[in-house]
Amino acid sequence: MGSMADTKRLVTADDIDRLRQLLSDTDAEVRGPSDTGYDKSIDRWSKAAEKPAGLAIAPASAQDVAIAVKYAAENGLDLAVKGGGHSTAGASSTDGGILIDLQSKMRKVTVDTEKNLLHVQGGALWSDVDEAAWNHGLATVGGTVADTGIGGLTLGGGYGVLSGAHGLVIDNTVSFETVLANGEVKRSSKEENADLFWALNGAGQNFGVTTEFVFQAHPQDKIYMGTMLFPAEAISKLVAALNELYKVNETPQGPQTKSLGRAMSLVGFAKPPPAEGKTMVLMNAVFDGPEEEGKKMFQPFFDIGPAVNEMRMDAYPNANKLVPAMYGMRSSMKGAAHMMPLREQFVHDIKTAYDGFIDTCPDAALSVVAWELYDPVKVAASDEGSFANRGYHFNSLVMPMWSKAENDAQCRQFARDLSNMFKKEISEHGAKASGGIEGGASVRGRKGAVLLYGNYDQYDEISKDVYGDNYPRLQKIKAQYDPKNMFNKLFAIQPEGASAQL
Ligand SMILES: Cc1cc2nc3c(=O)[nH]c(=O)nc-3n(C[C@H](O)[C@H](O)[C@H](O)COP(=O)(O)OP(=O)(O)OC[C@H]3O[C@@H](n4cnc5c(N)ncnc54)[C@H](O)[C@@H]3O)c2cc1C
Repeated sequence: MGSMADTKRLVTADDIDRLRQLLSDTDAEVRGPSDTGYDKSIDRWSKAAEKPAGLAIAPASAQDVAIAVKYAAENGLDLAVKGGGHSTAGASSTDGGILIDLQSKMRKVTVDTEKNLLHVQGGALWSDVDEAAWNHGLATVGGTVADTGIGGLTLGGGYGVLSGAHGLVIDNTVSFETVLANGEVKRSSKEENADLFWALNGAGQNFGVTTEFVFQAHPQDKIYMGTMLFPAEAISKLVAALNELYKVNETPQGPQTKSLGRAMSLVGFAKPPPAEGKTMVLMNAVFDGPEEEGKKMFQPFFDIGPAVNEMRMDAYPNANKLVPAMYGMRSSMKGAAHMMPLREQFVHDIKTAYDGFIDTCPDAALSVVAWELYDPVKVAASDEGSFANRGYHFNSLVMPMWSKAENDAQCRQFARDLSNMFKKEISEHGAKASGGIEGGASVRGRKGAVLLYGNYDQYDEISKDVYGDNYPRLQKIKAQYDPKNMFNKLFAIQPEGASAQL
């Protein structure tokens, strides 16, 4: 990931004074390490991702952001940008540099009900967007955990419960307002600065600070949703039911799943407290439609006999609250991928590894390993933006959650080991699983990128792996908008023509 912090000088007391002066006529706050609000600014979803910034700025406008960015550029200071603070790789933190904390004062959402557009400030959380849109009977594709930030999640692609119907989050972006490395404030859309718009839709954390996102919203009714818990003995039947619902089939009308773009499920191993230490299969299920149809779609799961069944009709924003926020643990989210149909033995093998890990590290008992399932047909059909990971594969997730720093290494190793198990599975069984629909078992997709979602922090992959064939075009655009590579913390892009040290 980015490694420039060590080549930059640290923030001094003089920097704090000068920035206070530069921002004195604005509503921005400059927070030094001993000031009120500093701790909140450096706070992250995963405690393991926190770093002590030299100072934090809480801007209230794009112009405030521009002053901070220009100052950092002109004074050789490292710069980090915090949206929702959910990166577990530390990509929104800086050790001794300037932190732009968008979340503190830039979370406003304005709903344009005539055009069904959502104008959202760069530090908003998905809960802000979901609630504001729902008040007008609208929704857009957004994160499945409401306290994630719109910033990082959108700029890296974005999957949500409505992806089966409306694609990725970036398939619903209409325009951006971005503060560039030189302090200029630029708007981009398909019509205006189209290259920048393309780059922001998938590799967006590399090109500036995006202070406003405009999303297309869609009329939205209540949703059939809830959590079911199954005993591990149900794995065989569950795998069969999931394969039936989410397997991509080749049909005369093109690729289709039985979920027809309306269902999404997160299925994984967890040890929920009521299970008293037993590993259970947790399934969050969402059906975008009326109760009767939802019940019919999930009937095969009800037939298995869940130990807990909380399925109900509910307001759309609550679909993104099925997974508890769990702020303040240590975590090292790690992405993986899978194809459908799932192979039952692989699911058993993952359970064995999960149980073994938690037996040796009880501090990590809240860890989760999960398979995400939805209808990928819409996502696969589009070619918008610089996101290079579209296809008929699915994201899976290895997420150790622990509390003691002394367990960092063990928990990260577990994440890596399990992710490698997923890689091996997709490489050995992917072609058979996908029925050749994705052109074989290659661990690279159609754009030459690894089948891994960059926003699920990867350890071993590099930018070219994540951006695939789009990387050279991104380098060109980077040379135009951020030639000195100021924005370099997550899958950094070497500007075209720049020396390797940049
Ligand atoms: C509990 C949990 C649930 C998740 N669920 C989903 C999900 O449902 N769908 C999905 O697609 N992903 C999901 N993710 C992954 C998520 O997309 C990433 O963690 C993402 O980085 C979160 O964005 P953030 O703004 O909260 O993070 P941050 O840590 O604030 O930022 C992440 C990166 O984006 C940059 N950034 C943030 N805001 C801006 C901005 N306005 N302008 C420029 N750069 C910015 C930061 O500098 C950093 O490089 C989840 C992650 C977690 C931890």
